[in-house]
Amino acid sequence: RAKEEGKNQYRFYDMTLNPNAKESMEIASSLRRALEKDEFLVYYQPQVEARSGKLTGLEALIRWRHPAKGLVPPNAFIPIAEETGLILPISERVLQLVCAQSKAWQQAGLPPIRIAVNLSARQFAQKDFAARICEIVEGYGLNPSCLELEITENMAMKDEMQTVLQEIRDKGFLLSIDDFGMQYSSLNYLKKLPVHKIKIDRSFIGGISRDRKDEAIIAAMLNIADRLGLTVIAEGVETREQLEFLRANNCHAIQGYIFCKPQPPEEIQEWLRRSNIESNVIEPGGGWRA
Ligand code: C2E
Ligand code: MG
Ligand code: MG
Ligand code: MG
Repeated sequence: RAKEEGKNQYRFYDMTLNPNAKESMEIASSLRRALEKDEFLVYYQPQVEARSGKLTGLEALIRWRHPAKGLVPPNAFIPIAEETGLILPISERVLQLVCAQSKAWQQAGLPPIRIAVNLSARQFAQKDFAARICEIVEGYGLNPSCLELEITENMAMKDEMQTVLQEIRDKGFLLSIDDFGMQYSSLNYLKKLPVHKIKIDRSFIGGISRDRKDEAIIAAMLNIADRLGLTVIAEGVETREQLEFLRANNCHAIQGYIFCKPQPPEEIQEWLRRSNIESNVIEPGGGWRA
């Protein structure tokens, strides 16, 4: 596709149709510069077992340290990176940062901690994706079971993606569906998808104690997931009431401000030392249940 022809991509922006095109172009060129200047970094947010509060993993969340704007959140630049194809080198950078951090934590004497990484549709659509990611991980002397790969429903449900999914899973990576319930939600697909885990989207969690329908949907998701042998994590848990509701409905794991906000690696390392974790990395072939 012409969009992927590198430098020619700008001719696809029609300024008269899209009033934000100029801004998008500016962001795209500063993203390119940011890659060269190494301005991306990764924050980490803990995921904990609902019942015990024991750490089960971390999610890696990209940030951009812009020289003038300060710390820029992903929603302000990931969509533009997706459009322009810059998401590929940016994602590669995230994987390198995550692997290097994981290795550094192991060398600092912390037990291996599984880190979840968000994948983009473009990355995932690369034919040799499974081999590429394996190469990166092994280059750092890590085992694929150290990483959990997050994909969205749309990415997971395409028929042509089933081979890649199975390859990734066979290599020993954990797979989860991010923002579950926001896209297709074709429950029939859940039965054939080779994933380990679903992440209930934050918008449902926000309805706990306020909207009986959200509560009903969450309870149903938990029930179906349990019967299909999938692990469930709730995202964006902020209040006691939300936590209690999720515990009462047997949700396995929790990610949200109630436990910890995404933090830079130094702060997370402190948090890890304090929380007295045990090794939670599952070897390939081992049963997996948070
Ligand atoms: P996501 O993967 O669904 O990540 C969870 C988002 O929810 C994060 O926002 C996190 O900071 C936020 N969050 C967690 N707990 C709470 C809570 O209790 N309350 C509230 N209000 N928010 C909470 P963040 O870091 O701004 O990331 C936004 C999105 O950007 C991510 O959503 C993900 O889709 C995307 N993203 C982040 N990092 C990457 C990356 O490395 N690659 C790609 N392709 N996308 C990324
Ligand atoms: Mg995610
Ligand atoms: Mg997401
Ligand atoms: Mg999410």
